[in-house]
Amino acid sequence: MLAFFVMALFAIEKTFTASACQEDDTLKIISREEWGARDAKHITNMSNPVPYVIIHHSYIPGACNDTDQCKQAMRDMQDFHMDDREWWDIGYSFGVGGDGLIYEGRGWTRMGAHAPKYNDQSIGICTIGDWRINIPPPNQLKAVQDLIAFGVRDGRINKSYKLLGHRQTRPTECPGQALFDEIKKWPHFSSTTKEVKMPANTL
Ligand SMILES: [Zn+2]
Repeated sequence: MLAFFVMALFAIEKTFTASACQEDDTLKIISREEWGARDAKHITNMSNPVPYVIIHHSYIPGACNDTDQCKQAMRDMQDFHMDDREWWDIGYSFGVGGDGLIYEGRGWTRMGAHAPKYNDQSIGICTIGDWRINIPPPNQLKAVQDLIAFGVRDGRINKSYKLLGHRQTRPTECPGQALFDEIKKWPHFSSTTKEVKMPANTL
């Protein structure tokens, strides 16, 4: 009798936990203020939901393993994009670090600068690190997938979105061969959008 009572209590607790998870439909995103972003020089709004999600790697800076390093990587990428490339802001919609955290770039509703012809209809996610040889650690990959899933639930990304690697939009090695092979296995990967081949003499 006691055993039955304990089992029943356990079952109730499990049910309660499951429903609590479903109701808590939020995603922690490190804000621009938290990583010390500079103000954008200009903003162009973008309507949601977007039909494309485009995956990048940073190549440089390399992988970051704690939150201080990842915040620095976001600042370095923003400086490079604004000062060297003379863009209005960091190019990506979001960065994802090896600490398993998501960092706000231009966010959901500001047009990015990361993939020509797709910037006004896509979310660009930079998986911080060089993923030519190795794939990112599981917590980093999970954070990318969580971000996409949240975007779909929240009406930011179209339910029938297409997932692309950057190299499918222009000649580039990005997002690295290992990461590109990984995302080919993910839901919504668009195998009909062909890679844009690079000239032989470029990286
Ligand atoms: Zn890229």
